[in-house]
Amino acid sequence: MQTSKLGSQKNLNMSVQDFMKIAKEKIVKNVLSVGKWLFIKLDPHYYMLINLGMNADLIYFTPKQKLPEKYQFKLTFTDKTGFTIQFQWFGYVHLIQEKDLSKHKLTAHLGISPVSSEFTLEHLKKLLSNKKGKIKSFLINQKNIAGIGNVYIQDILFKAKLHPNQQIKTLSEKEIDALYKAIHDILNRSIRLGGLAYEKDFYGQKGKFTLNEFLVGYKPGKPCPTCGTSIEKIRTGGTASYICPKCQALK
Ligand SMILES: [Zn+2]
Repeated sequence: MQTSKLGSQKNLNMSVQDFMKIAKEKIVKNVLSVGKWLFIKLDPHYYMLINLGMNADLIYFTPKQKLPEKYQFKLTFTDKTGFTIQFQWFGYVHLIQEKDLSKHKLTAHLGISPVSSEFTLEHLKKLLSNKKGKIKSFLINQKNIAGIGNVYIQDILFKAKLHPNQQIKTLSEKEIDALYKAIHDILNRSIRLGGLAYEKDFYGQKGKFTLNEFLVGYKPGKPCPTCGTSIEKIRTGGTASYICPKCQALK
């Protein structure tokens, strides 16, 4: 493993020697993306938390491949594959004991990731109970749910037949069920397609989620796939929303 200083920001939360001592011999159990962080569960008892900051390149390599010219961090697995990270601007690689995860200052405030098994219908109901405000701003707030964002929310709300400005307290049980299902459907579909077309995955492949894949998102003037009404672009709070005015009428 290699590391270097970026300006006055250190990427690691300990010395390189300590980091290597802990990371050595650990087994990767699973990887979860939570907001802008990657949570890599290492057995036994550790998490490696990676935040790529702005514009970092995380590139997977095999023993036969040439490494990128520049990188600040390199991790090699037992089978000699691994990944390098080139940080352009800040970014972190932290090792945290499992028992201290909730005390990790930079990630403790993040909501549960919608693709994790902890994100159940019960969890969503609990999150929404006694909440004021509009459904869209609630869902894209990382403190409530980590990682929905303004891109996928468009089709999630369309699938759930909800107007972005619908007040949370007016949501029926049925609407919350539909919302939960829509979050799962849209995000899982995006994972299957390898993410957005401008994103690259672990292997450097571009995602296949192009503009055509959206139901209503980023398609103003195009017909709604359900009823044919023209999709509208509206302002909702500080963000743009794409809706079918008929299927997603404000209640
Ligand atoms: Zn429609």
